[in-house]
Amino acid sequence: MGQKGRVHSVESMGTLDGPGIRFVIFLQGCPLRCVYCHNPDTWSVSGGRIEDADFLVERIISFKPYMDASGGGVTLSGGEPTLQPDFAAHIMKKCKDAGINTALDTGGYCKRNAFEKILPYTDLVLFDIKHLDPKVHMELTGKDNRLILENLKFIDSLGKKIWIRHVLLPGFTDDVTHLKKLGEFLKSLNSLELVELLPYHKLGIHKWEALGLKYPLKDVKPPSREILERARAILREMGLNVI
Ligand code: SF4
Repeated sequence: MGQKGRVHSVESMGTLDGPGIRFVIFLQGCPLRCVYCHNPDTWSVSGGRIEDADFLVERIISFKPYMDASGGGVTLSGGEPTLQPDFAAHIMKKCKDAGINTALDTGGYCKRNAFEKILPYTDLVLFDIKHLDPKVHMELTGKDNRLILENLKFIDSLGKKIWIRHVLLPGFTDDVTHLKKLGEFLKSLNSLELVELLPYHKLGIHKWEALGLKYPLKDVKPPSREILERARAILREMGLNVI
C-alpha cells in the first residue's frame, strides 16, 4: 500500500510560493480559522480528494525541466501540510531524492514531531506569522500562538532557511508599534532570509459564501499601496530583507 493523503488541489506552474516556478500541492485540512482565509474550503480534514504520494511525485518530476530552468521546485502548502506529516514527508523525501528543491508553507500550528518528520527533506520553510500578541492572534485565527512561535524557534535552531509571511491587515497588523515589535522579533531569528509582507485581499469571499459562512471582514478594505510601502519601509529600516 502506497502512502495516501488528502489533497485540496495542485498548481503545476505556481510562482507565488517560494523561488522560481513551483509545483504547489495544497493539502487538505487546517487547524486555524483565519478571519481573512481565502481558502476556507481547505479547512475540513475530511474534504479534498485522496491521492497517492508516489503518483503525485511522478507528476512533479515531469515538471522538473521548468523547475530547474527557473530555480524552482515543489512546495507543500494548504490548508496546513503538517496535519499529514507522513504523507508530506514521503513526498518531500522522494522529491529530494530526485534532486528537486523542496519548500514547506506552514502556519506552524502542529506538534513538533510533525516538523521532525518533514524538515529533514525540506530546503526552505515559508512560515506564516499571523500576529505576535496572543490575544489578537486568538481573535484572528481562533487559536493561541504559543505553539506556533515555539515551532518557529525550533525550525530556526536547526538552521533551516526561513521566509516569513505576514498579512498586512488594516486595523490589525498595519500600525507602527506592531510592525516594530514584529521587526524586533524577526531580527532575533538566525536563519531568516526574507520577509514577505502580503496585502490583505478579499478574493476568497465567494468561497465563504458558498460554504454558508459569514465573512468576518466584510467592512475591511485592502491596504493602499502607500500603507503597504510604509509598512515594508519600517521593516527594511530595521535591516530586514522585505518584499
Ligand atoms: S492557516 Fe491558511 S488555510 Fe488555514 S485558516 Fe489560516 S489562511 Fe486559511
